[in-house]
Amino acid sequence: MAVAQKLVLLGPPGAGKGTQAERLSGDLGLFHLSTGDQLREERDADTELGRRAGAFIEQGELVPDDIVVAMLLGRLDAERVDGFLLDGFPRTVTQAEALEQGLTERDRKLDAAVLLDVPDEEVVERLGSRGREDDAPDVVRERLRVYHEVTEPLVCFYEDRGLLARVDGTGDPDDIYARVREAVGAR
Ligand code: AMP
Repeated sequence: MAVAQKLVLLGPPGAGKGTQAERLSGDLGLFHLSTGDQLREERDADTELGRRAGAFIEQGELVPDDIVVAMLLGRLDAERVDGFLLDGFPRTVTQAEALEQGLTERDRKLDAAVLLDVPDEEVVERLGSRGREDDAPDVVRERLRVYHEVTEPLVCFYEDRGLLARVDGTGDPDDIYARVREAVGAR
């Protein structure tokens, strides 16, 4: 059997990363790790980390890199996973570099970074009907601004490494999934 893949899923808020990640990780037997879910769990459990992260999440800002990187690498080590699918991480070049270094230290490397491409207008429309607390219109605008400013440079980061797979993230979720499968299956 092929070695389990190590993937990251990139894209703006509301691109459908969670939905696609759940399906793909299930079908490929990968460990699905969403830093957003993990941070919300910490916040709801009122842990020290969760209290620190909560204020950032509510305002649509990113949680500081050192907190998220330690949480992510700690979780990968604790779970001793082989293949994984990271959803919502990395979100900054600093995080991407930390991931690269962390994986190198563990004798591993990424197979692909899949970008779910969705235009801003569609993001605003989709999140308007989702109803999570950080989906309020002004918070969504801020999350999109942050995405373009600090997360989108990751597209070049992974392109430079020959790892980027760009997928049209608009249309029917089943069609999007078929495109995602094709993007990772060809590797
Ligand atoms: P998500 O569920 O991926 O949309 O994430 C929700 C919120 O959690 C984001 O708006 C950030 O405040 C925080 N968050 C999730 N992942 C990260 C990350 N990799 N770096 C910084 N903040 C994050």
